[in-house]
Amino acid sequence: MVLPRCLVDDYDRFVLKYPFTREAKQRVSDIVLEDVLRDRDFLTSCLNFIEEILRKGKIEIDYSQDVEKILLTIYTSILIISCLDKRIWNRFADILSKYFSSNLESEVDRECIVYIAEEFGINVKNVRKVVHSDKLQIFFDIAVPLHIYLRYCPKNDPNWKLVNRYVARGHVLLTYRELARLVEEAVERQILNMIENASKNEIVKDIIREQIGEELKKLEVKLLPKALARISKITRKVSEDQLFPPCINLILEDVRSGGNPSHMARFTLASFLLNYYVKILKIPVEEAVEKVVDIFRTVADFDERKTRYQVQHIAGLVGGRKFYLPPNCDELRSLGLCPTEGKCGVKNPLAYVIKKLKSMGRSVKREEKALNEA
Ligand code: SF4
Repeated sequence: MVLPRCLVDDYDRFVLKYPFTREAKQRVSDIVLEDVLRDRDFLTSCLNFIEEILRKGKIEIDYSQDVEKILLTIYTSILIISCLDKRIWNRFADILSKYFSSNLESEVDRECIVYIAEEFGINVKNVRKVVHSDKLQIFFDIAVPLHIYLRYCPKNDPNWKLVNRYVARGHVLLTYRELARLVEEAVERQILNMIENASKNEIVKDIIREQIGEELKKLEVKLLPKALARISKITRKVSEDQLFPPCINLILEDVRSGGNPSHMARFTLASFLLNYYVKILKIPVEEAVEKVVDIFRTVADFDERKTRYQVQHIAGLVGGRKFYLPPNCDELRSLGLCPTEGKCGVKNPLAYVIKKLKSMGRSVKREEKALNEA
């Protein structure tokens, strides 16, 4: 493939503007990771970088600085982020991918946009090769295959719904600016994958914690809203079974032991867990759906496709678009799904968790106060 002018003319600037391209990764491929992770001062500077970009909501890069050092700061920050609470991952990936796509959007060299899109697996055709209408050729620049468009288009924006798009010969017509937006989505996924993979590497995480463990904890407290940080502390200390009400634990037990719970029991469990993950733990709804689907894997008649659809339906992602609450205690009692005969002192199983978190939160608050006063 012919290299675009933006890459040939200024390689350093290219890799700094697009730090997740093959070219940028190659630039630091000779550096030994362990040496980087053993450098405490460097890790501390990465922590400052993370805190600054999360506070400002954007990245500002000084292109006159050392190229390798900037790239290493970005990649090492990804490793550090993997040691922090998952809710910080998305914000971080979002800021980095927006930095990448805003550079791409302002690229005068259109070949550069196409070159990078293709690096991220987005095949691009000139619009003239797909449609012959002069008018469409004026409004659109390029066309991407339908399946790729569906993979990377922003999901919650009506503008990107297929009914609002021009589709011709299996391709969706787009402007260069819109192509940059698709690339942003692909970059964000790559960053989240990098964080996810790093989070599974216990050796790397141990080295990071050994070097800057205390600073990491402080940063997490700073970055998460206070209430969420407290909930994180609680959920790290106690198991979910200890937080959940008896009715939910009973259904969970049935599911885990390969049972065949009733339709209402499954609905109660799925709606309860979705609300717990999304509204209390603030986990993105798509991720919460996957967690719930995984829990149902052990039921006797598990069908992944069907389960995912039903869970997405309860989460309001498909069908009626309504995010369901779990049934109230009265209803669960009448269905024979309440083992305590309504003795928990709440009206809904979700209220049980909230009540528990509040009482545990008060003791965490007391601990924090004692620590501050010490
Ligand atoms: S009272 Fe409500 S929360 Fe408690 S076990 Fe019964 S249904 Fe569940």
